Amino acid sequence: MAVDPVCGMKVDERSSKFAYTYQGVTYYFCRQQCLDQFRRDPVKYVKR
Ligand SMILES: [Zn+2]
Repeated sequence: MAVDPVCGMKVDERSSKFAYTYQGVTYYFCRQQCLDQFRRDPVKYVKR
């Protein structure tokens, strides 16, 4: 299971339709809104 970095929900990466690759890492999201929010401001959600 992957964790949606925006809302913290667990997401099954094999069935998730919402994936986005940022700096070589693929993130999975529970819904389109979370993906859009991440794309708008990825730095806010990526742990450094
Ligand atoms: Zn979410």
